[in-house]
Amino acid sequence: MKFQLDPFKAPCGCGIPHTVSVEEIVLEPDALLALPGWVEKRGFHQPVMLCDHNTRAAAGDRLLALFDCPVEVVCLDPQGLHADEKAVALAESQLPEADLLLAVGSGTIHDITRYLAAKKGIPFVSVPTAASVDGFVSTVAAMTWYGYKKTLPAVAPIAVFADSRVLAAAPRRLTASGFADLLGKITALADWRASHLVTGEPVCDRICQMEEDAMDAVCRQLSGIGAGDPDACEALMYGLLLSGLAMQMMGNSRPASGAEHHFSHLWEMEVINPHVDALHGEKVGVGLVLALAYYHRLADALSAGVGLSGYDGVEKELLDRFEAPDVRRQVEEENTPDPLAAVDREKLLAVREELAALLHALPTGEEAAGMLRQAGAPVTMADIGLDEGLAGLSARLSPYVRARLTVMRLAKLWDFPLA
Ligand SMILES: [Zn+2]
Ligand SMILES: [Zn+2]
Repeated sequence: MKFQLDPFKAPCGCGIPHTVSVEEIVLEPDALLALPGWVEKRGFHQPVMLCDHNTRAAAGDRLLALFDCPVEVVCLDPQGLHADEKAVALAESQLPEADLLLAVGSGTIHDITRYLAAKKGIPFVSVPTAASVDGFVSTVAAMTWYGYKKTLPAVAPIAVFADSRVLAAAPRRLTASGFADLLGKITALADWRASHLVTGEPVCDRICQMEEDAMDAVCRQLSGIGAGDPDACEALMYGLLLSGLAMQMMGNSRPASGAEHHFSHLWEMEVINPHVDALHGEKVGVGLVLALAYYHRLADALSAGVGLSGYDGVEKELLDRFEAPDVRRQVEEENTPDPLAAVDREKLLAVREELAALLHALPTGEEAAGMLRQAGAPVTMADIGLDEGLAGLSARLSPYVRARLTVMRLAKLWDFPLA
């Protein structure tokens, strides 16, 4: 599948400047074979590969054998490897002189490489080993920085070489997780559109359409994803790359991350729950099902004419749940000013019907759950080892992990119980 980037660079009527910095995307069987020639043609002399033991076995060693020139390798231990300050320091301490980094792996290796590439001012090439997340071509790195789940500025890869044979051979669990990450765009887009409706936040219809196209293409191949079918894995990767491009064009993760990701971030921060041993997309999928259930209940309440709540600013008792002083301070910063302060209550009441219509039009939690199950992804909090009794608290607390306005956050303004 040849990825045509030109259409994405065409001028857009929305008024938001869109930049596409990735120069080439190759998504096809044996895409790896084209990488050494590309490196030579582009005049790089000191490529350094970043990988872990698993991804080295999945694609790294094969790729090394294709190069004529020596390629140094920084190979990390996948056991307990996270995109955090410790992994970055470890990788940086082993990093030899380089003029190009090759990220061979899934999301974590990409986030570490992306951050290091930005810090050192070196370009990097993405070689995904699984269709597991949509962040491969994104410009930001999702990192846990001293306990706080942050989105740090980083760089997008200059090229992507995604080998669909490698993707199809990846563990099914990773592929299912990638599907769940993509399906999460349902609430991410609803949150963006709702914010546009309520606060006038700029929205780009073309980018929303890209995310919808990405989901459509993949939802037609659901059973193939569960079965690890090569064509379905390639279609999924296409969708994930499209979603990543949407983020790149927007310059932030607005098109791809909303309330469903906030659940995931909250659980990763281990504020109200012990460590969750689940993949990024798995947590996002569970967050999506939860968010959709709330959104449909809110839609019903809005249609029934629910009034405004007595909300009068950030709920301090909830912020105090973030007990570690550093984390508490960062949450405070993230919520200053309170994004709900930008919401005009009169306007909110005036768009009640429209907001209800937007939410009623979404798939239900059960529908999303059915698709996740078919793809082989977890669905409930219990499926990923979380206490179901934490659903209400997660719904009230999770909007505070980001300044981004979501329907979950807006729900606080309505006389509607988030429990
Ligand atoms: Zn995601
Ligand atoms: Zn646009």
